[in-house]
Amino acid sequence: LFISFEGIDGSGKSTQARLLAETLEARGIDVVLTREPGGSPGAEEIRALVLQGDPDRWSARTEILLFTAARRDHLERTIQPALDAGKVVICDRFADSTRMYQGLSRGDLRAMVDQLHSLMIGVEPDMTILIDMDPAKGLSRALSRQTVEERFEDFGEDLQKAMRAGFLALAKEYAARFEVIDGAREIDEVAGDVLAVVQTRLEK
Ligand code: C5P
Repeated sequence: LFISFEGIDGSGKSTQARLLAETLEARGIDVVLTREPGGSPGAEEIRALVLQGDPDRWSARTEILLFTAARRDHLERTIQPALDAGKVVICDRFADSTRMYQGLSRGDLRAMVDQLHSLMIGVEPDMTILIDMDPAKGLSRALSRQTVEERFEDFGEDLQKAMRAGFLALAKEYAARFEVIDGAREIDEVAGDVLAVVQTRLEK
């Protein structure tokens, strides 16, 4: 089972991915918790190339290529071997983030992202959990834990609003694999809903 978590910066998706991994592991399920960009040694190097330093170093198109290269390496070295071994893979962001960040926030490049995805990746998660969050809340959370390592592009609220709407539209587009969960509640409440939807899928 391949599960991805998506959401705007500060939505709490990384915390929820970790909590889900811990809960499943405690039940004796083999879990691989991983993240994008990154998740394999090569992909982590690409992450550093893109997210550290000058945010304008790469054009939007080059960035799509770099993120797709990172995803290809992550898929070959980490995700696919784990799935083949029957493990549950929990991934903090996957291709939907590229559809949003490179495909939407840096211009109208969604078609290009999708073409490259079908050419080089071709895999979607079995299940994508969107942690939906009001941008103003996400913003204050993200800024409060900001580190110099991360690139924080434009934290303007308009962009965050567009991203939230974009993720919700994506959830409709890929309704069969998406679960939208309200992230603006206590961590435990959100985690309880996440576990419930995952359990439903595991039982199918
Ligand atoms: O999810 P995480 O906080 O690790 O993401 C790190 C940064 O990378 C975020 O600021 C996000 O905006 C950016 N990002 C991006 N394009 C992606 C995925 C993440 O610009 N495809």
